[in-house]
Amino acid sequence: MISKKLTKAINDQINAEMWSAYLYLSMAQDIYAKGFHGIAHWFKVQFLEEQAHAAIMINYLHSQDARVILAPIAKVQTEWDTVLAAFEDTLKHEKEVTAMINNLCDIADEDKDRAAANFLAWFIDEQVEEEKTASDLVNHCKMIGDHIGGMIMLDKELGARQYHTPAPLK
Ligand code: MG
Repeated sequence: MISKKLTKAINDQINAEMWSAYLYLSMAQDIYAKGFHGIAHWFKVQFLEEQAHAAIMINYLHSQDARVILAPIAKVQTEWDTVLAAFEDTLKHEKEVTAMINNLCDIADEDKDRAAANFLAWFIDEQVEEEKTASDLVNHCKMIGDHIGGMIMLDKELGARQYHTPAPLK
């Protein structure tokens, strides 16, 4: 059975995932307004993924007969100076999420909760991917610099991103 401490921490994580979704939706709006509709689409897919992360955690608490309690979602930033700044904030944010997931794993370890540890392993892998993708995009943007042609190519490339339902929800 899941502990009260881990139940509370996963509820907090559900809120953090929903806040992440809101953050990326906000980035999508600013970047859309800047005229990069493909990059805005990439952030919209990111928004969908974060909502899926929250849904995966909700399903897990249900599987443990634990109560899900939804808290208010805090406000998010609405403007970024550049696309690079948005990607840099994405990387910074994903590192923070990784630390939160690691903390959930620590609680599962303290509890000797094997089911939770197994459940959380998917998120550990997911965070490795999230950080790598964000880091690649920061580097890519830095390489492009002020070349508008490069940004147009990146916009086209990121506009092709497709949303895939994460494995735990299939
Ligand atoms: Mg997430």
